[in-house]
Amino acid sequence: MKKYILHLAAALLASCTQPQPVNNDTVQTKGRDTELTYVMPQPYEVPVIEAPKGSKVKNVILMIGDGMSLMHVYSAWTANRGHLYLDNSQVVGLSKTYCANKLVTDSGAGGTAIATGQKTNYHCVGVDPEGRPLKSLIDYAKEKGLSTGVAVTCRLWDATPADFCCHNADRDQEEEIIGDYPNCRADYVFGGGAQKFTNRKDGRDIFKELNEKGWQTPRTWEELEAIQEGKAFCVPYDVDTPLPAERGDLLKRASLKGIELLSQNEKGFFLMVEGSQLDDYGHFNDIDLLMQETHDFDRTIGAMYEWAAKDGETLVVVTADHETGGLTLVDGDLNEGRIVCKFSTGGHSGVMVPVYAFGPCAEEFTGIFENSDICKKIRKLQLGE
Ligand SMILES: [Zn+2]
Repeated sequence: MKKYILHLAAALLASCTQPQPVNNDTVQTKGRDTELTYVMPQPYEVPVIEAPKGSKVKNVILMIGDGMSLMHVYSAWTANRGHLYLDNSQVVGLSKTYCANKLVTDSGAGGTAIATGQKTNYHCVGVDPEGRPLKSLIDYAKEKGLSTGVAVTCRLWDATPADFCCHNADRDQEEEIIGDYPNCRADYVFGGGAQKFTNRKDGRDIFKELNEKGWQTPRTWEELEAIQEGKAFCVPYDVDTPLPAERGDLLKRASLKGIELLSQNEKGFFLMVEGSQLDDYGHFNDIDLLMQETHDFDRTIGAMYEWAAKDGETLVVVTADHETGGLTLVDGDLNEGRIVCKFSTGGHSGVMVPVYAFGPCAEEFTGIFENSDICKKIRKLQLGE
């Protein structure tokens, strides 16, 4: 509930500081159990992307749609007139999302299981149920000499990036979580949340500490774009990145920039990319923004699949940590790109979520498995562990 109140507060804040979306009627949670209609104004083309033939997994791109279930994907597919880049996936599996102490998980425990290979308690980030720090895919890849990174559209104290980079038994300890980033082994970080890096209660300047540990800290997209090599930690926004319609293809660009820097390592790289705000818009029961965010994530998936297809040794895995909003598609029209949806909750729901894979060894992600198995499969395929 605390998280939900925070989301509502964030919604109010967002409504004060950011332009309103086209359909204001959906920017509240009064839509619960009522029918909401969305028509996608301009569908995008989706080409066929041929999967590479080899079996060597040099690089892994793990993509997490926060709160994205099959219903979100099918709604987005319908709205885009029956096309998604995700359709190019070679295989699909199902991930069981329950956490160590609750059936319906959150992004802390759900993402920690994906990042570390171990289920943990609700609200934990990067620690086990006893609060002990866990190694994540970032640490495992670094131990083998690979380069690593994360690119998200949310504030960096939010659970999913923290699951991979930080350690805390309470995801609401936001300053503490940001204060943990200088210990993180990621070579590339892109996200929001600059307001908690300086002017902190403990007096620390986290940007300065990052500089001292060898990261460049660009504070705008242009500054990041100019960087050609080395470690980069880019936080261009005080809290989250702007709404999907305002920020354009920022997630795609930030992901490709990460690849440009990380792929200079001949041993390979691990990159986590998150479509962060599907979860927020699911909590708000805002179908308009939820579809915009899902389509933005899908276009980013397309860019990663296209890069992987050219590279030939890159495995892309797309999944979610849990479902948000209890979304149900009750009607729609493929020709018109119209969907009619209902939300059943302002929180998360309990359901298996899809796991899509593209590239070498994609077939390893077929079947029904635990969310924690995703980490284990990646370690086996990429790191030989
Ligand atoms: Zn959530």
